[in-house]
Amino acid sequence: MSVLQPVRGTHDLLAEESRRHRRVEEVAFETARRYGFGEIITPIFEFTEVFSRTLGETSDVVTKEMYTFADRSGDSITLRPEGTAGVARAFISGGLSQHLPLKLFYRGPMFRHERPQKGRLRQFHQVGVELLGVESPQADVEVIALGAQMLAALGLKDKVRLELNTLGDAESRAAYRDALVGYLSGYEDRLSKDSLDRLQRNPLRVLDSKDEADKAVVAGAPLLTEYLNDASRSFFEQVQAGLAAVGVGAEVSPRLVRGLDYYCHTAFEFTTTALGAQGTVLAGGRYDGLISQMGGPATPGIGWAAGIERLSMLLDETPSADRPVAVIPMGADLGALPLAQRLRQAGFAVDLGYSGNVKKRLNRANKVNARAAVILGEDELARNAVAVRDLDSGEQEEVPLAVLEERLARFR
Ligand code: ATP
Ligand code: MG
Repeated sequence: MSVLQPVRGTHDLLAEESRRHRRVEEVAFETARRYGFGEIITPIFEFTEVFSRTLGETSDVVTKEMYTFADRSGDSITLRPEGTAGVARAFISGGLSQHLPLKLFYRGPMFRHERPQKGRLRQFHQVGVELLGVESPQADVEVIALGAQMLAALGLKDKVRLELNTLGDAESRAAYRDALVGYLSGYEDRLSKDSLDRLQRNPLRVLDSKDEADKAVVAGAPLLTEYLNDASRSFFEQVQAGLAAVGVGAEVSPRLVRGLDYYCHTAFEFTTTALGAQGTVLAGGRYDGLISQMGGPATPGIGWAAGIERLSMLLDETPSADRPVAVIPMGADLGALPLAQRLRQAGFAVDLGYSGNVKKRLNRANKVNARAAVILGEDELARNAVAVRDLDSGEQEEVPLAVLEERLARFR
């Protein structure tokens, strides 16, 4: 291990990659804005309990993946592995129940100690939304439609599909849980150790297992949809009808679950086949019991989170960088710096080479893909003018300094 290496599972985002990353983030933010979501920025670490309570003591994230440490005061702190818990904590500690319904957007780094692979990092980034305080299936429809619109705006409409399921209400889930435990108990010899543990503590989570033997058993398990009561069935129908009405296509995927008690009704994922095993780009669901479980006022909620790295890998094109104007002095002391400053203050992106002859500086202008060059020569400056060269066409003209911004406007 060399300390000059990035920590395993972390990654520097340079030039092109950072532009793809920003693109995803900005499109997500802009789409959320159109749906009336404002940004919330919570700390990237919280007391460990914020996550252990919300994510459940048996979840993979809590048992295996958290970056937890005692800080200098001896408090147990965890780098956030996901965004919802912090938002729920902020909702409670900030007394935000006065402001319902609340529509919140977040973005930023998340931390999970997993085995790094393509699309799976230890520090990764998410954008996400939470809609708090709305019981009606309209909230589910809007939140899913927001996700679909963001993906479409990123040009990914044809690369992803929406898988949708319902977990029903508490009564439906209790009935299903009994049936599932009955079924799984017949296969105790084939289930993984983790799943045997889940069978006792949280049987729905067995459906989420990535273990091959577990998956084979799960394939024959009863379906939750067969245990829905009328109210739950009607809720699900309203979500589906709402999605159809706003033009969002969905496929019912009866094995899609969220294994924690406070999840109910709608569960969904946007998946792709283009990223191998890491095919889920956006995942979410309704969590009406979450905030009360954390000790806050009973408040329904629904939200999703999307992995920025996975979305960024799916983008067809890298957004192009700004094309600057290059300011090129043909000798020392020709006022390049003040002129660059003047143009920047007028709103131009300006690149200034720091040394070398004109040829070298023109090469640099090409390297940074400059759109135009402003060349400062003694003769022109004596006439209060500069040469402006269109670096795409090669055309050059003399421009009086007084009208420089005006003449450069077409190169913006
Ligand atoms: P997976 O099944 O791939 O482990 P998950 O169920 O743990 O995903 P969520 O907690 O639902 O994922 O997070 C939402 C999204 O965040 C995922 O769909 C994915 O796009 C992204 N994501 C999750 N974990 C990672 C990671 N370690 N590296 C990169 N992206 C991730
Ligand atoms: Mg995971």
